[in-house]
Amino acid sequence: MNKKQKIYNKLLELVKEENVKVDEMLRDHLYTKLGGKADFFITPTSYEEIQNVVKLSNEDNIPFTLLGNGSNLIIKDGGIRGIVINLKHLDAIYSEGNTVVAQSGARIIDASRYALDKKLSGLEFACGIPGTVGGALYMNAGAYGGEIKDVLDYAYVVDKHGNLVKRLAAELDLDYRTSNISDNGDIVVEATFQLKPAKYEDIKEVMDDLTFKRESKQPLEYPSCGSVFKRPPGYFAGKLIQDSNLQGTNIGGAEVSKKHAGFIINKDNATTSDYISLIEHVQKTVKDKFGVDLEREVRIIGDDKD
Ligand SMILES: Cc1cc2nc3c(=O)[nH]c(=O)nc-3n(C[C@H](O)[C@H](O)[C@H](O)COP(=O)(O)OP(=O)(O)OC[C@H]3O[C@@H](n4cnc5c(N)ncnc54)[C@H](O)[C@@H]3O)c2cc1C
Repeated sequence: MNKKQKIYNKLLELVKEENVKVDEMLRDHLYTKLGGKADFFITPTSYEEIQNVVKLSNEDNIPFTLLGNGSNLIIKDGGIRGIVINLKHLDAIYSEGNTVVAQSGARIIDASRYALDKKLSGLEFACGIPGTVGGALYMNAGAYGGEIKDVLDYAYVVDKHGNLVKRLAAELDLDYRTSNISDNGDIVVEATFQLKPAKYEDIKEVMDDLTFKRESKQPLEYPSCGSVFKRPPGYFAGKLIQDSNLQGTNIGGAEVSKKHAGFIINKDNATTSDYISLIEHVQKTVKDKFGVDLEREVRIIGDDKD
């Protein structure tokens, strides 16, 4: 029996057969519609299953990677070795008093809408962010003046040893589009948000306003990974790109959006290499013209194609 078959058999002892896929095409799970295959793609249905997979990964030295909604990731054309874990089956959302509790596979947009229904304010900023709760914590996602750090009370994670552990928000080092979640090797499984009671109409008005702003400014009709770059101190990435006359620049189907300069869209069957080449071209052009380093917000992972 080869090594891959052995790993597959071990995974089947831990996760239901229909939730273990081999050589899964990752582009089907990514907003950019880019990326190669995962050796194994699993969708656990309980925290215990996740814990057991982490223990297997430690014992047999098999790497694993978390994939949320794939809205802030570029995966290289050679794909990902080892196990990709996706928590789409763990997507419950409920409330307790003024808190909303969401499992990390739930969409943060759904948590935001749920809070509206419960007349709880604080998650309005997240009403158009297309990630999962887990991805939103990992990135400390934010928009229009709000961010996860403002409302997160605590999270449950599966730590690198496979233990289920409670982490207070302050322990996660949440900062501008970053956290210490990957440094610690944590898998976020659940988040508790502390919100404030408010009138339904007031919350709805804010959400409608943010949705209008987003739809009118962002190229949501094309695959993309949102804003590619972080805001450099003292500047706006989109403005620097616009002033470098880069809008419309196209490499192999990847294009700097004409609608929002901070977005790179997959306009016409781009590969990950096209996307990365365009990102590097934008960084170099802006550096040459304005002397400003554009740091990527989007994460690039995986192997190059042979
Ligand atoms: C059109 C568009 C608009 C966007 N607008 C915004 C915006 O306004 N504000 C903003 O902040 N972002 C925005 N984004 C980016 C993106 O939606 C956020 O960063 C989001 O939080 C990513 O969540 P995800 O589930 O898609 O994560 P993924 O892209 O799947 O993963 C991102 C990272 O999180 C890790 N991760 C995912 N789940 C877990 C978990 N459970 N435990 C541990 N690690 C995990 C992954 O390994 C990866 O490193 C936008 C993207 C698009 C495409």
